Amino acid sequence: MVSILKHFAIEGVEIIPCRLNGPRGIVKSFLICGDERLILVDTGYSDADADIIMKRIGAIGRKQEDLNLCILTHCHSDHVGGLKKLRDSLNFQLFAHELEIEGVKRIAGADVDGVFRDGDSLVDCGGVKILHMPGHTKGSISLYLPRIKTLIAGDTVFSAGEHLIVSPAYLSDDPERAEQSVQSLLQMNLDIERVLVGHGDDVYEDGSARLGRILLAKRNF
Ligand SMILES: [Zn+2]
Repeated sequence: MVSILKHFAIEGVEIIPCRLNGPRGIVKSFLICGDERLILVDTGYSDADADIIMKRIGAIGRKQEDLNLCILTHCHSDHVGGLKKLRDSLNFQLFAHELEIEGVKRIAGADVDGVFRDGDSLVDCGGVKILHMPGHTKGSISLYLPRIKTLIAGDTVFSAGEHLIVSPAYLSDDPERAEQSVQSLLQMNLDIERVLVGHGDDVYEDGSARLGRILLAKRNF
């Protein structure tokens, strides 16, 4: 049920632990793997993380040219830090929510090639729906993959094992908004089996139910 360390295989998604020796532990990137292409979600913290990501592409038997889109869940440095090296090495389009354009430029020194708005979707890779989840940052997004009932939450949701929490207040631009975003996610009634988070253990089953309990738990942050 929990833990990236167990390496449970998920059809169509590769979980890539990055920043293994960083000061605040692991941040994850994800590869969404379609027949035609790979989509990278977030880039880790550093050049070393970019290397980890590029190695993983080869390790799963894909070519680096298969990666032609990178989606940033938000602009924090531990999610955009590998971007420069990846852009120097590979050829892909960079997308983020329109409210993150400025932050991506400031923190990663990169221009985005295209923007998402809430409800946008990609049709390949089994479908990818973009959910705007403001709070952690203004333009934070989560990605919902309906075919495999998986939510790539970004930093909208953190986890400690099976216990999910809203992005902690001290890490959020607007903690109240972060909570409202999770509330609206719950109201969508999406069928979610897995919740893959930027930090902490991933949830492999009963994702909707565990998300449903998130707002019942009092936050201690
Ligand atoms: Zn963050």
